[in-house]
Amino acid sequence: MFIVLTFLLTNERHRCGMDRTIEQLLEIQDKDIRIFNLKMQIESVPEEKEKVKHLMSEAEDAMNTAKNNYLDIEKNIKNEEIEIASLKDKILNLQNKSASIKKNDEYKAVLKEIKQFNEKIEQHEDKQLVFWEKLEESKASKEKAAKNLEATKSRIENSIRDLDTRNENCKIQIEKFKEVRQSLSETIPPELFNNYLRLLKRRSSGNSFVKAVVPLQGENCGGCFLKVTPQIKASLRKSSFDQCENCGVILYLDV
Ligand SMILES: [Zn+2]
Repeated sequence: MFIVLTFLLTNERHRCGMDRTIEQLLEIQDKDIRIFNLKMQIESVPEEKEKVKHLMSEAEDAMNTAKNNYLDIEKNIKNEEIEIASLKDKILNLQNKSASIKKNDEYKAVLKEIKQFNEKIEQHEDKQLVFWEKLEESKASKEKAAKNLEATKSRIENSIRDLDTRNENCKIQIEKFKEVRQSLSETIPPELFNNYLRLLKRRSSGNSFVKAVVPLQGENCGGCFLKVTPQIKASLRKSSFDQCENCGVILYLDV
């Protein structure tokens, strides 16, 4: 069973009909929510920086892949060139040899061999042409990847700068809200404030803020949504706030 608040209320009601104390407590809660959200934003900065850096490594990987692909094709073209040069050498040797051949059959055999080597050269030249075409495509891909890498780099630098600025702004705002909160907390009864702090600590966790001060919703508690007792309802009509007997939140009439 929660301790029911027993403050004597000042009856100082404002134009909306809400008690000044509960108004101030709600303002404190509002500042706490803002501080909580700002802290969450600060906490998310390292993770967001990592995501941004990941984009950079993706662009770098794409650039390396494009570069390696280009080098591979260049290597293939050179290999074909080596093959062609070697076949041409063989042909030259055969042609030199043919000058001294006397027998017709041997001469024909050499000519046949030269013909076969020429056919092979043609095949290698065809392959080389295909590689040249691929090299052009690869060059375009490489240039595209390089441009993308540059664009990503500058985008990432901007994002990191924005995140750092956001981080600093959040810290400044937190300090401002803390000051406001501090002066507000001095104007409300300490017991009420301490009770509010206890409730917050009990209900909220590291990644979720659960309100400690909630309005009565019809006949139900705005915290646990259970129907409140007639006594609580009567008490709220008399005073400006009370505690839910079930979940302990500070209830008020949102009039
Ligand atoms: Zn409740």
